[in-house]
Amino acid sequence: MKSLVLERKDELSLRDFPIEKDEEVLGPRDVRIKLHTVGICGSDVHYYTHGRIGPFVVEAPMILGHEASGTVIETGSEVTTLKEGDRVCMEPGIPDPNSKATRLGMYNVDPAVRFWATPPVHGILRPTCVHPEAFTFKLPDAVSFAEAAMVEPLAVGVHAATKAKIKPGDIAVVLGAGPIGLVTALSALAGGCARVYVSDLSDKKLQIAQSLSPAIIAVNAAKETVGERVKADTDGWGADVLFEATGSPKAAAQIFEPLAPGGCVVLIGGQSEPISYDAGAAMVREARVENIFRYAHVFPRCVAMLASGAIDVKPLITRTFDFDESVKAFEIAASAPPADVKMQIELPQ
Ligand SMILES: [Zn+2]
Repeated sequence: MKSLVLERKDELSLRDFPIEKDEEVLGPRDVRIKLHTVGICGSDVHYYTHGRIGPFVVEAPMILGHEASGTVIETGSEVTTLKEGDRVCMEPGIPDPNSKATRLGMYNVDPAVRFWATPPVHGILRPTCVHPEAFTFKLPDAVSFAEAAMVEPLAVGVHAATKAKIKPGDIAVVLGAGPIGLVTALSALAGGCARVYVSDLSDKKLQIAQSLSPAIIAVNAAKETVGERVKADTDGWGADVLFEATGSPKAAAQIFEPLAPGGCVVLIGGQSEPISYDAGAAMVREARVENIFRYAHVFPRCVAMLASGAIDVKPLITRTFDFDESVKAFEIAASAPPADVKMQIELPQ
């Protein structure tokens, strides 16, 4: 089927691609889905421009894309919660249902997890796919296909906010105003934060952050230290929660500066090399440090919050391309236009 294929580093093509037979076999608890909208993720772009992310190396042509929504077109014999015609979004990582991690409820850290568009597993920038019912979520009418394709990145923010154990009225800081930083800020507000300080070096990105909510305070890290700003606004106490969403070792070196005593830091941004942080600054605050890897158990919560309006991701979707323009879309995404947050691709219906 016609698919967006990463042939090798720096080379994409939209071409007919033979999917392995067993990937297309509909099991009793699977559904077949006609893809509708697929978001372009930073990880897709990174595989395109670098050919690898950490230990995952593109060694054979691979279909990209993992942020997706679509329509169920066929159901396996034992499927009970979905039917043909249902609009759905899909969680892209499938763990081994019998693994120890899965049985302990931490299926996202199952070493055997198969995640779309992570070599050697193909992604879903293609007309159809087969997916387990258990990782496919029905959409209410109020949630569009475009919003539903935002559930995957949103899930990272909601998982991070959950790990932080936010309490109503907390003050939060988010370092980084990229797509993940912004969905984290929205998740922190939905979780009950009174204010969220978002810092970045790009004024354009900060303008977008600021436009999302009057409770978001944009801080340009080139002009102002976020720690000093938060301290000034909180009588010297600091923020209850800090989310690190830049993946920059320089930002990570200062994560405890804005933090209040007893506060929590959640590390979200991927670090390709070992980094150091100020353990002494963590100690005097009795800071709690959490790490997240993707997400677990949050897709239905994300769908529910989009449906109720508790979270609005529409302002983050800044450009939409036709499937035929996929290669161009990735070239544009790779150039990292400062005014774009999320670019999406729509498949022909
Ligand atoms: Zn993603």
